[in-house]
Amino acid sequence: HSSPSRSTAEYQALDAAHHIHPFSDTAALNAYGSRVITHAEGIYLYDSEGNKIFDAMSGLWCVNIGYGRQELAEAAYQQMLQLPFYNTFFKTTHPPVIELSSLLAQVAPEGFNHVFYTNSGSEGNDTIIRMVRHYWALLGQPQKKTIIARENGYHGSTIGGASLGGMHYMHEQGDLPIPGIAHIEQPYWYANGGELSPKEYGLKAARALEQKILELGVENVAAFIGEPVQGAGGIIIPPSTYWPEIQRICDHYGILLIADEVICGFGRTGSWFGSQHYGIRPHLMTIAKGLSSGYIPIGGVLVHDTVAKVLIEGGDFNHGFTYSGHPVACAVAATNIRILQKERIIERMNEDVAPYAAQLWHDAFDQHPLVDDVRSLGFFFALTLVEDKASRKRFEHGSSMALRCRDICLKNQLVMRATGDSMIAAPPLVMTRAQAEEFVRLAKQCIDEYAREL
Ligand code: PLP
Repeated sequence: HSSPSRSTAEYQALDAAHHIHPFSDTAALNAYGSRVITHAEGIYLYDSEGNKIFDAMSGLWCVNIGYGRQELAEAAYQQMLQLPFYNTFFKTTHPPVIELSSLLAQVAPEGFNHVFYTNSGSEGNDTIIRMVRHYWALLGQPQKKTIIARENGYHGSTIGGASLGGMHYMHEQGDLPIPGIAHIEQPYWYANGGELSPKEYGLKAARALEQKILELGVENVAAFIGEPVQGAGGIIIPPSTYWPEIQRICDHYGILLIADEVICGFGRTGSWFGSQHYGIRPHLMTIAKGLSSGYIPIGGVLVHDTVAKVLIEGGDFNHGFTYSGHPVACAVAATNIRILQKERIIERMNEDVAPYAAQLWHDAFDQHPLVDDVRSLGFFFALTLVEDKASRKRFEHGSSMALRCRDICLKNQLVMRATGDSMIAAPPLVMTRAQAEEFVRLAKQCIDEYAREL
């Protein structure tokens, strides 16, 4: 790797002078000085000071196959020389978009034979809003417009994506949500389950969808959208009864089921798609992140045959982005998927590492006095910081506790994320057993350090 061309202080000064960071208090950040990440290899990041950092967040839940894969760089390079850009708007297409689309049909659940491309997950969800409304209009029910989503869900940062999302702190900025979107509670047993068992609560949380459909009138409801496992909301793993009941309700009322697979897709839960893990049959799936392992921006909507048929027979769909099906992005994504297949990365993660890592995670934290609701699934790992474990007393200012804990992790060269009062992780799917040991040992060390500070 080439060494950085400026000093850390120079980089930080220029960053502070010119760069507005996403989801950040830029003034506070500038006073603190952003960490400058210069390169990465495997599951490790390196900063401008030469520190080696364990990336237990896969970037932002995206670098599933790990950093530094030459094949992806090579695919981008070759495609840039061959055909760096062309569109697919005006009676043209090109080999990379064709290859990727047919590959996606191969790895996606049965009946998903079509894809619409975007540059991101947010654009994928915006596309879905237009697509489902257009679908119902084509079927002669243009009033079926409302999409039901969930509190604390995350579906992106565009006006449509943030409206579908259930993050109040996002709604407060920019006058969201837009009309035609309703929210129901999230299936978060630990926070909302009360006296109910997880299974009982899973049914109750799912039936909030039925109540909302009846309240709005089924003739007005287009679809329900949810992440199979809520990621940015804090790795909220729903009780086993939740998704089957959601499926039953969607089937019963004839509304579309949308799975936002931006995080869950491409192996995170241990299945190719989170929907498969839960045995549900969505009509549309949003994909991004792991589609290219984050090496290049690309997202999309996988469309089930039932919906695709109506859309395709319905004439013009007046929607698209300059970079929909960008040839370089498609070439990189196809190479990424072939690597997942060829190296059996998801299978190996399931067979060799995920159960072992889950055991280590639970052994380290189940008895920890300041930790509760220790959870894992596939390569998702999370825990809740609590004031008193015995009485399940949560911190009044849980999010600042978690942010403090995250800073301790970063100081100790471990990237985890703080969400509400949870500490969460989603390491690259190529993490080995030895690296899982390192991850859990580091996380335990950091949480112990945080505990000593209290
Ligand atoms: N949907 C989910 C479930 C996500 O986690 C994210 C991003 O974190 C998005 C959508 C938005 O994707 P993007 O940031 O690529 O627009």
